[in-house]
Amino acid sequence: MAEELFSQRTTTCGALTKEDNNKQVVLNGWVHRDRNHGSLHFINLRDRYGITQVVVDDDASAELQSVANELRMEFCIAVTGFVRLRPDSMVNPEMATGEIEVKAEKIEILSRCAPLPFLLDDGKETREDLRLKYRYLDLRSQGMQKRLKLRHDFIFSIRKYLAGRDFYEIETPTLIKSTPEGARDFVVPSRLYAGKFYALPQSPQLFKQILMVGGFDKYFQIARCYRDEDSRGDRQLEFTQLDLEMSFVKRDDVLSLMEGLFGHVFKEVMNVDLPVHFRRLSYNDSLNTYGCDKPDLRFDLPISDMNEIAQKSSFATFKDIVAAGGFVKALCAPKTEGVEFSRKFITELEDAAKIYGAKGLAWIKVGEHNVLSGGVGKFFAGLEEELVSKLEAKEGDLILFVAHENWKRCCASLSAVRSKLGKDLNLIRKGFEFCWIIDFPLFEYNETEGHWEAAHHMFSMPQTEYLDTLESDPGSVKGDLYDLVLNGYEVASGSIRIHDVELQKRIFRICNFDDETAEERFGFLLNAFRYGPPPHGGIAPGIDRMVMIMSDETSIHEVIAFPKNTAGVSPMDDSPSFLDQQQLDDLHLIIDYPKPKE
Ligand code: ASP
Repeated sequence: MAEELFSQRTTTCGALTKEDNNKQVVLNGWVHRDRNHGSLHFINLRDRYGITQVVVDDDASAELQSVANELRMEFCIAVTGFVRLRPDSMVNPEMATGEIEVKAEKIEILSRCAPLPFLLDDGKETREDLRLKYRYLDLRSQGMQKRLKLRHDFIFSIRKYLAGRDFYEIETPTLIKSTPEGARDFVVPSRLYAGKFYALPQSPQLFKQILMVGGFDKYFQIARCYRDEDSRGDRQLEFTQLDLEMSFVKRDDVLSLMEGLFGHVFKEVMNVDLPVHFRRLSYNDSLNTYGCDKPDLRFDLPISDMNEIAQKSSFATFKDIVAAGGFVKALCAPKTEGVEFSRKFITELEDAAKIYGAKGLAWIKVGEHNVLSGGVGKFFAGLEEELVSKLEAKEGDLILFVAHENWKRCCASLSAVRSKLGKDLNLIRKGFEFCWIIDFPLFEYNETEGHWEAAHHMFSMPQTEYLDTLESDPGSVKGDLYDLVLNGYEVASGSIRIHDVELQKRIFRICNFDDETAEERFGFLLNAFRYGPPPHGGIAPGIDRMVMIMSDETSIHEVIAFPKNTAGVSPMDDSPSFLDQQQLDDLHLIIDYPKPKE
């Protein structure tokens, strides 16, 4: 028989215990750490499963000593040796293999490692582009290994749950017709048809609906979606969704399926118990109480409507805004040990509010016996009791107001203040707070383009009571739409869909697609709807975002094996990159390079 290429492992680096004492083993892995006490070497050998301490004793052969001397961090090696118990003083209860070590008899260097560009496990200390350029090294770090395992466990658990409930996993194409869904499409030029392009799907939306027309009843897919927009911490040009659709369902069927799914998955994967039902908030209530449609419910700090009391005050700015149909809202920051509600503290909150349109942040400090001081306190003379009881304020608290003509801006500005207070006052509880946001507006007005557009996408069903007023009052139409929110992030959106050609066309028209354009773009969906489509609905939770939250991270880059950086570039393979002239010619493309900015 030919000589073996290398000694192949008989076990992994995470498996050996004192039960294996005296066994001969072969381990394969990487040199994690190498401590050298003269002729005594301690090598921490690492693979995906764990770390095992390998010892080269001082009585080892000269040959073994010399190989051990050559070892450097991240060399890939094979170790043949015997398991032995560590002396009591060396037992490491923190390590799964902490009771044993492997006495090396032979070490083979399988491959060498160039000097490391950064220390593994240094994680966040290392510049992100460096981590991404050498992603293969970064992936060896414990953090990346742990997070990608969690991601695998999460997806596997989802698959098992859904397959157990009669869902089929069906793939849909990645080269499709450009069918705008809200973001910009990525496109792929066709070589065979000059001037024609495929688009990469922003989501499998239309295909999953057509699968319902095709009678599949319950579908899911771990789907890759592509959107040509600016990448940010929690956005990528390509990302992964659990895409799901069901026939003959109403909203609550979809919501309870999701509650069951995540209840099961969080228990199985993280041993976390979620409530059987998640809290539900209407879009309007969510904005009024938390200032936004993705509230972080790990802390309370509700916002209150102050129009009535503002009118009774002597503060002209507030009164004028209310008189003009505007809004005055407030929240009460609780007195907190170690935090002084100083000018600087308030100015920073004000800066956060201004980003969302607030012109200022008015404030009042609550003193002993409800004495109001500072800021706009003097304008509330005589209204102390009412103000304090409305906000349930206590001595030492700080009341913060925003007044604005525009409801959304008023809410959003206070939402920014609420978020900042959550962090600054350390109010955020540990754990997972899910909630549903329901009753969203169906349309939003696009100021720049001067027309209505779908708030979610154009395939969502209006709530029935608005069917007669779609065209006459689009702004007040509520949709059968729902978002799932987790710890202040939107983690899923979905809706009950339109399955009627005429209604679908009305929505297209309101969104500025005349019948001809709609037919040209979405004709295949409209056609399908002419052949007995079932009522249907679905949802699409974002896998990256959920795993990010489950891992207590703030960037989805940390839970994706090969993400692009925030500039949309992959420093490892250098994409995007230029094509050579032949490729351009084959694709019938001429590049019109932008002129450099003067
Ligand atoms: N396709 C939608 C999205 O990606 C989700 C859905 O409505 O199911 O946001």
